[in-house]
Amino acid sequence: MTVPNPETPSAAPAPSDFIRDIVAQHVAEGRYSKIVTRFPPEPNGYLHIGHAKSICLNFGIARENNGQCNLRMDDTNPTKEDVEYVESIIQDVKWLVAGWADHCLGFKPKGRVPQLQSVNGASDYFLPAVCPSAQNSDELEPFFASDYFQQIYEYAVALIRKGKAYVCDLSPEDTDKYRGTPDTPGKDSPYRNRSVEENLSLFERMKAGEFPNGARSLRAKINMAAPNIWLRDPVLYRIRHAEHHHTGNAWCIYPMYDFAHCLSDYLEGVTHSICTLEFEVHRPLYDWILEELGLARPLPHQYEFAKLIPTFMIVSKRKLIQLVDDKIVSGWDDPRMPTISGLRRRGVPASALRAFVTGLGVTKFNSVTDIAVLEHAIREELNKSALRRLAVLRPIKAVITNIAPDQAIELDAVNNPEDPNAGSRKLRFTRELFIESDDFMETPPPKYFRLRPGGEVRLKYAFIIKCDEVVKDASGKVVEVRCSADLDSRTGGPTASRKVKGTIHWVSATEAIDAEVRLYDRLFDTAEPDADGDFKKHINPHSLEVVTAKLEPSLANASSDLRYQFERLAYFTLDPDSRPGKPVFNRTITLKDAWAPPKK
Ligand code: ATP
Ligand code: MG
Repeated sequence: MTVPNPETPSAAPAPSDFIRDIVAQHVAEGRYSKIVTRFPPEPNGYLHIGHAKSICLNFGIARENNGQCNLRMDDTNPTKEDVEYVESIIQDVKWLVAGWADHCLGFKPKGRVPQLQSVNGASDYFLPAVCPSAQNSDELEPFFASDYFQQIYEYAVALIRKGKAYVCDLSPEDTDKYRGTPDTPGKDSPYRNRSVEENLSLFERMKAGEFPNGARSLRAKINMAAPNIWLRDPVLYRIRHAEHHHTGNAWCIYPMYDFAHCLSDYLEGVTHSICTLEFEVHRPLYDWILEELGLARPLPHQYEFAKLIPTFMIVSKRKLIQLVDDKIVSGWDDPRMPTISGLRRRGVPASALRAFVTGLGVTKFNSVTDIAVLEHAIREELNKSALRRLAVLRPIKAVITNIAPDQAIELDAVNNPEDPNAGSRKLRFTRELFIESDDFMETPPPKYFRLRPGGEVRLKYAFIIKCDEVVKDASGKVVEVRCSADLDSRTGGPTASRKVKGTIHWVSATEAIDAEVRLYDRLFDTAEPDADGDFKKHINPHSLEVVTAKLEPSLANASSDLRYQFERLAYFTLDPDSRPGKPVFNRTITLKDAWAPPKK
């Protein structure tokens, strides 16, 4: 079977990196019947651009190997999680993989709790039907680690029976103290040698809700002197009397990440569990748990790669939530946020985001990535796909004195010179126009090729005009320029080839529509906003400017599915705040990189 591969014909060869090399070797050896990866966010915030990297890596590997990538909510911490986050994560993942890897999206039938038939094997474990299309998934939902709470509990009981786990009465603080430091070994807990029976009974009573938060924990019995601190009798279960967004009040003990993650991977038949480098030190524990439980092979294995950390961005849900809570931004999907939903609202195409995160490759070394690389990927994509339109952000009036007030000349304008299939549209040239206020200067500096008194300039898709007169208000501000047009200079006309140095954009003042245009810039004013641990001090005060712009009338029918280039200005997209007759556009990105640190 060949995988639908819409991007390969024109795109670069399939990416290659050390993780893909490992997978390729396993495929060559026939080690697994199917390659299964997973993307396991904790639903404690919205996904950000770093997660996009992990999504594209996990789905990319599934896609390249006829495999499957499960979306799994890693929801073992009830107090920080919420269904709002679950829903946003589903929407963001679907958006990012749509048309690219949605055929690899591992979902399960809604409401069904997967059942493990025997504690000692995943063989008869329910494996999901691959979601045929992300759009058509009303009856499907992601996996939830919390769906496995019963099975994970049974695995914990199995470890206790084997003498490999015990109930410990140390407080969380004392547990930390007893653990030692990387240089000094830990100390055995006084509860380490409880009998299996006592442990079983106490664990059962923990589950039954007999003890308050923090009173007891279940710990693996490994080695308090292990050089790897994560192997010093790590906590497997803790008591949390808290309602869970997915399991309600069914549980008051919750498994720790390290215990739940490897088992969730196992239960889903994951073959390659790919995560970021900070989990490398947890890998021995991941393997220890699976080995000690004597589970049927093949077992999942964990592989680690370096996080994506773009400059001028924060990639930590814990910190991003502060921007939301402190109302520094309008929400998780504020177009200045590095969240997937923010980038989408900003107008960044999913394909550009995928091209960016995939193009960076996958390494074992942490480093920061220049945001210019992302911006380049966005411009490349939008240059190919955006419809060209005329819009004036800061208008001044230009009156064309040799056009009659009721006259309108129809002109052809191509929709996208990069895409012959995009066709063309008609523009109507009228006596009263708007031009951009900075396209006119009364006393311009050298090399200013736009409009000046007595000077000529070409109006895009239209005529050469000459500025004959300047009208000012009482304060001396220019409010209108009066011009004459060379009506022979349009395309195909007798003087069409006449050269003037500048071309500027315009809209008809009588036919243009008004729009609120939100000019977004980088949220932070410094490349590494968290370098001093105080990212909120580095907010760019000019990250949003709102103007009322004049747009060519065709933009009254703008679609939120399309991208637009306002010629000579930037790329824009329609914002969901738009109302009939009241469009709102977001600036995705300027046409060229002209960023300079803002003046404070
Ligand atoms: P945060 O610190 O933002 O909360 P996290 O690692 O706690 O991030 P998770 O929800 O646990 O967030 O992450 C889901 C997956 O995404 C994990 O496998 C994690 O390793 C990966 N991931 C998180 N941040 C990045 C990043 N910046 N670059 C690449 N992958 C990331
Ligand atoms: Mg995490």
